[in-house]
Amino acid sequence: MPATTPTRKAASAKKTPLPAKARMQRGDLAPDRVAAILKGLDEAYPEAVCALNHHSPWELLVATILSAQCTDVRVNMVTPELFRRFPTPEAMAKATLPQLESLVKTTGFFRNKAKSIQGAASKLISEFDGEVPQTLAELITIPGAARKTANVVLGVCFGKAEGVVVDTHVLRISRRLGLAKGDTPQKVEQELMQILPQDRWISFSHQIIHHGRKVCEARKPKCHNCNLEPLCHSKDKTWHS
Ligand code: SF4
Repeated sequence: MPATTPTRKAASAKKTPLPAKARMQRGDLAPDRVAAILKGLDEAYPEAVCALNHHSPWELLVATILSAQCTDVRVNMVTPELFRRFPTPEAMAKATLPQLESLVKTTGFFRNKAKSIQGAASKLISEFDGEVPQTLAELITIPGAARKTANVVLGVCFGKAEGVVVDTHVLRISRRLGLAKGDTPQKVEQELMQILPQDRWISFSHQIIHHGRKVCEARKPKCHNCNLEPLCHSKDKTWHS
């Protein structure tokens, strides 16, 4: 009987992953490894941009608030009618909560989100002359806008990198790639800010979010299709035929 060649799947299955601490100590954060990951992301996602449709900082602020626990696709289905009915902060501040709730209902947590976007509109009018502020410190005072929302708006609309957007994809994949080990967005953001060049803070998040949607999915990452695979030694690696 001819000898069989072990498949990649079989070879991979025999590997015992190193404990997380050992993997970190193995040089995961070495500048040349981080640079190689960034290069791989550039090659795979050279045009990655924010997937939330918007025409102004105000629209992106609202869309990002609505995107909590919801897909960008779903938010993009809701916002055209929302902004047609209430195109400005002034108009949205005057909307009733039931009006807003019915328009954002399909994004989930709609009562809280309706309150947040109405509150955000009122805050912009009362404290920022109706304009979206351009600093993280100011943005996080807006109802519904925590650091992630603030970083999205600052990066996409104003090209300002005051932090790194850490959503569910960035949290998961940063850990899989050994770039962070924190278990909260706040901890992972701080770790990423330490190791990524600041001029990559904005693009890194866009690229990783695309990577998470297309390849490094939560349940079954498509490692056979991942150009970062040689750099990744996550225990979550999965090989598909
Ligand atoms: S090799 Fe797999 S787990 Fe690692 S980054 Fe790529 S898709 Fe994700």
